[in-house]
Amino acid sequence: MTGHVSFYAQVTANFDKAAALTQYPKGLLDQIKECNSVYRMAFPIERDNGDIEVIYSWRAEHSQHKLPTKGGIRFAPDVNEDEVMALAALMTYKCAIVDVPFGGAKGGIKIDRRNYSQSELERITRRYTYELLRKNFIGPGIDVPAPDYGTGPKEMSWIADTYSTLAADKLDAMGCVTGKPIPQGGVRGRTEATGRGVYFGVRECVNLGEDMKALGLSTGVSGKRVVVQGLGNVGYHAAKFLQEAGAVLVGLAEYEGAIANPDGLDLEQVMAHRRETKSILNFKGATNLPNPQAALELDCDILVPAALENQITKENAPRVLAKVIAEGANGPLTAEAGEILNQRGALILPDMYLNAGGVTVSYFEWVKNLSHVRFGRMEKRFEERAYRKLLQASESLTGKKLTEAEVAEYTGGPSEEDLVNSGLEETMISSYRQIREVRLKHPAKPDLRTAAFISAIDKIVTSYNDLGIFP
Ligand code: GLU
Repeated sequence: MTGHVSFYAQVTANFDKAAALTQYPKGLLDQIKECNSVYRMAFPIERDNGDIEVIYSWRAEHSQHKLPTKGGIRFAPDVNEDEVMALAALMTYKCAIVDVPFGGAKGGIKIDRRNYSQSELERITRRYTYELLRKNFIGPGIDVPAPDYGTGPKEMSWIADTYSTLAADKLDAMGCVTGKPIPQGGVRGRTEATGRGVYFGVRECVNLGEDMKALGLSTGVSGKRVVVQGLGNVGYHAAKFLQEAGAVLVGLAEYEGAIANPDGLDLEQVMAHRRETKSILNFKGATNLPNPQAALELDCDILVPAALENQITKENAPRVLAKVIAEGANGPLTAEAGEILNQRGALILPDMYLNAGGVTVSYFEWVKNLSHVRFGRMEKRFEERAYRKLLQASESLTGKKLTEAEVAEYTGGPSEEDLVNSGLEETMISSYRQIREVRLKHPAKPDLRTAAFISAIDKIVTSYNDLGIFP
């Protein structure tokens, strides 16, 4: 790895590259790019042994062009202001690309969660929420956090509970955070959403024959050789859905090491091995790689970096062999690494499109919270009955009778999970087509990331109509 790389500077560099290909006034582009508000908090918590410890944390709201602002909260030892600003900016563009009506935000608490007990984590999360509330940095119409690296449904339930206890408006209080457990107002399918979205995005990309031909690849996910870096919520689910669709996982990496097997690794068996031995290494039939980063350089068709930012830099980019780089993580490539890979003809599926499945389903959860009704509740029986009538009509026309099991299979109305997954699939497919279209139509034929930025900028500009500017 090279020395410290400012993540915010990377996002800005990518933005500027796209902005130069638009006709908008500089001042407006500057306003879109700028991170509007950053709140830094330091607060004390009591450790289980009675010690007092100061906790450092941030919340950045990049853009309020649509409200609420939206984005996860990460718990990591090296969280810093530059990082949350960069991640908040990515959220703004991400939401615009997938037509989710939010501005971008991100939060972070500078802790290594492995060093804290459950009750300490609860005290930290609740105090953080309290601090946000005091400064008007949280609320269903203000700023809505979600899970990110190092956080999950449990932390979200502490946030929801703290907020709703203190909030003046209790009616919509559950909409103050997404990624909650189902009984606390969560939506089915949110946990898998980012990984599932990565899968839908990759599938859409590799199904386009023309693009695959240019890369020298066949169409379809089946048989594609895939390497995944990071087996957290995003990487694990992306790997799972890709493997289920017939992809071959030839390499997997975690922070303790990486393994490879050109004949494929069984994901569930690797996960079981890791739970048992506390390491991914020494998995039966696989080769241990010298270090985790080595997985990025394996011979494969699709590389899915799904861990943290700045993993591929100008130093290791020339050794990356994958033809498709599918950014599951936020910012896994530096701007320079992106240039090197574009030059070499690789296709980069940019983070702000590819991992937008999480915030897309967060949007569905927020809508559910504000509408106070589960998706599918109104139409499930109605649709079942309509399908049943259709089947009966075709039975009487053909004179053939289906078994009760067949009837049940064909007439089942949609559950909440079916609807969420269908909304996610539609979003990932149509957004990919949109950014690809922008790329093909633009005289400069920019790379997909630049096309995604142009698409986002076009959409955000419409929110500044009060300045008299129309795209
Ligand atoms: N942390 C996720 C992201 O980076 C999800 C954010 C959300 O659901 O608001 O996109």
